[in-house]
Amino acid sequence: MSAIEKNKTTVDGGACGAPPPNHHLPDEVLLDYASGAADEGVSLLVATHLTLCPICRDRAAELDALGGELVENLPPADLSDDAFAKLLARLDEPGSEPAAAEPARKEQATDDATLPRVLQRYVGAAAQDIPWQPLGLGVDHVDLSVEGGSRAMLLRVPEGRAVPQHTHEGNEYVLVLQGGFSDAHGHFVRGDVEASDDSVDHRPVADGGEDCICLAVTDAPLKLTSLVGRALNRFAKL
Ligand SMILES: [Zn+2]
Repeated sequence: MSAIEKNKTTVDGGACGAPPPNHHLPDEVLLDYASGAADEGVSLLVATHLTLCPICRDRAAELDALGGELVENLPPADLSDDAFAKLLARLDEPGSEPAAAEPARKEQATDDATLPRVLQRYVGAAAQDIPWQPLGLGVDHVDLSVEGGSRAMLLRVPEGRAVPQHTHEGNEYVLVLQGGFSDAHGHFVRGDVEASDDSVDHRPVADGGEDCICLAVTDAPLKLTSLVGRALNRFAKL
């Protein structure tokens, strides 16, 4: 039984008493975050998921501890100065505050029903004041300013609407913040993360009932593959 499966039986709720998410971050992403190797966009996604997911919080703590043991058992010559310093910096941080590593942006922000505080700092607004920009086909977005190789944005897809079919040149992580969506890989609701790589060609459809708001982080541009998607690609530059 994996640690994550084991933890599922011991964690009885997510943030604010909500059930924990069902779709989680891969270990390698949690490891990159714990070691400081993840860039800012991916780190923002991980920090946001951790505020909503007690299962991944526990897993990240386990991986942090494992990383510490590995460091203790390796001769210093096997680690670069940079990697060692990054790992030490992470291990020195308080483990109970997953957003601690994020740059402080709008400190007065507080969690709301859609945007955890760590994300509001990047949006610069609470959920009701998000400065949406039209992306096409009824989909809105707002780009978030992150350094490094990834791109981060909030997406708002009208209830019941399909996102054009697309593949990826790299990895895409989509974290649901409001509503939900389904594709061939499952049903995703608040707190769930769908991780896709360049082998995935999918066409998510938003649930009915309310608009679907997601945090999407890509480490390479999306490639829209349907006819409508290719047309959208030309002006959306996704
Ligand atoms: Zn999780």
